[in-house]
Amino acid sequence: MKVPLLDLKPQYAQIQAEVEPEILAICKSQAFILGPKVQECEAAVAAYCGAAHGVGMTSGSDALIVALMAEGIGPGDEVITTPYSFFATVGAIARLGAQTRFVDIDPVTFNIDGRKLADAVTPRTKAIIPVHLYGQMADMDAVMAVARQHKLVVIEDAAQAIGAEWQGRRAGSIGDYGCFSFFPSKNLGCFGDGGMLTMQDPAKAHRATILRNHGSEPKYYHKLVGGNFRLDALQAAVVTIKLKYLDGWTAGRQANAARYQKLFAQTGLLTSGKVQLPAAVTNRHIYNQFVIRAQNRDGLIAHLRSRDIGTEIYYPVPLHLQECFRDLGYKAGDFPESERAAKETLALPIYPELSDAMAARVVEVIDEFYRG
Ligand SMILES: *Cc1c(COP(=O)(O)O)cnc(C)c1O
Repeated sequence: MKVPLLDLKPQYAQIQAEVEPEILAICKSQAFILGPKVQECEAAVAAYCGAAHGVGMTSGSDALIVALMAEGIGPGDEVITTPYSFFATVGAIARLGAQTRFVDIDPVTFNIDGRKLADAVTPRTKAIIPVHLYGQMADMDAVMAVARQHKLVVIEDAAQAIGAEWQGRRAGSIGDYGCFSFFPSKNLGCFGDGGMLTMQDPAKAHRATILRNHGSEPKYYHKLVGGNFRLDALQAAVVTIKLKYLDGWTAGRQANAARYQKLFAQTGLLTSGKVQLPAAVTNRHIYNQFVIRAQNRDGLIAHLRSRDIGTEIYYPVPLHLQECFRDLGYKAGDFPESERAAKETLALPIYPELSDAMAARVVEVIDEFYRG
């Protein structure tokens, strides 16, 4: 039995009858950029996330860039974030010419360690970017406490965490900004690239709206230098339709996580410490990924691949060790938990349509590996 890490085709089959006429209608209208479809999507996503405003973006990466631009963050400024994330988190800081200050992760959640945040603040610090990795929110109490004390902007990288909650509050509603991605492999994906910036403050929303359209207001008059960060109508329409299904899909992911817990408990792998499953310490983990720690991780990956089980390493090289960030002056050993996670972890299939038999097969193949 082949088990892919992610298969989007069953999801498409579920929404096809709704999505295809909508796409055709937009084609016939020949109105593609911004417009009512994007506004509808912005209102729906913002409401879902508990934010007052949503501003559609070209991607999650650009949402991060626009948030930093809107706050005027640039050369001479420092931004605190985690070295254990997708590249875009730190790429955005670097693209604006600001300096990244890393704080290591909590080994239990893989998210930035709230206990270590305060030590990273300097007189130049302007913002914190907590990343809600794999679908579980970072310690927002710690982030907001440090931010309030030092008057820092908080930009939540919620690309993997739409609908995740921290003490009943949704990702993207607690900090100054929430950055969302509609990349197809995210829990709410469109049919290409897309993203959204959320916020509570109308002035911030207004600024982001201008910045995404070359800083133009009114048309052809520019007080700010922005860019083309516009979401298009086709992607927005897909997101709006899919959003109605998102809670059901999230429940499917959570059920799969619970199923893995049960299946692994029936092997000796957890008690022997060969495998460690992810811990849900917040009340709503949405499992964009199901990432485990495993002894002899690389051997296990080779074995899974040989048995047609999809897996991936998120992420094999922590960001402080990336060649392009060498000028930040970090070295191996600086963030031991991030480095250890990069060596020990792998993702297992968790998408909503994964069947009982497929999950059982994944665990069987892992068990087979450790029994030799
Ligand atoms: C996917 C992702 C992004 C970037 O989103 P894109 O839409 O692909 O640009 C940023 N941060 C994290 C943590 C992500 O997972």
